[in-house]
Amino acid sequence: MARYTGPVCKLCRREGTKLYLKGEKCYSKNCPFESKPMPPGMHGRRRNKQSEYGLQLREKQKVKRLYGLMEKQFRHYFDMAERRQGVTGENLLMLLEERLDNVVYRLGLGSSRKEARQLVNHGHFTVNGKKVTIPSYRVKVGDVIEVKDKSRKSPKFKELREQAETKAVVPWLSRDLENLRGTVVASPKREDIDIDVAEHLIVELYSK
Ligand code: SF4
Repeated sequence: MARYTGPVCKLCRREGTKLYLKGEKCYSKNCPFESKPMPPGMHGRRRNKQSEYGLQLREKQKVKRLYGLMEKQFRHYFDMAERRQGVTGENLLMLLEERLDNVVYRLGLGSSRKEARQLVNHGHFTVNGKKVTIPSYRVKVGDVIEVKDKSRKSPKFKELREQAETKAVVPWLSRDLENLRGTVVASPKREDIDIDVAEHLIVELYSK
């Protein structure tokens, strides 16, 4: 599947916000966004007033990059969000949150969404006891996500468990770090999603 392979820290600078794409580095003083928060490139320091279209585009790119999706996949989520009852922008964020790679990241069992995706791809997780290797798998209330027995003792998960101990878990998930397990206890609500994004601008963009 196609994916972005360029320098990811530039993406944070482009979007003007931390996207947490590099795991632990994002929480350290080595995060380049802390010292260079301006957009990349020669004219990065110049802050031109953005057009309405420019603002809408930036919000869409921000969310797309945050969840590590390409345009086609992102558009697919938008179409699903539109078909659901309720507010389209909120539906979109909820659908993205329900992806298995995001849930693994939210549980702290991947230091970034990218790493969580790799770990899912490599078959380290089960959902309700069955191995799932599809990062876009959509979890539902009651699902139990676990690190596979064979993977539990690996140094990677030991490290992730130690890192996760210092981080809180979102209210719609419960976590049992001792057993490297998480349960979906509710559907994510907009107020649970700590993303600084004006999702209505994405709706406006795609509604043109
Ligand atoms: Fe963004 Fe993380 Fe790079 Fe900082 S370290 S610029 S938050 S990807």
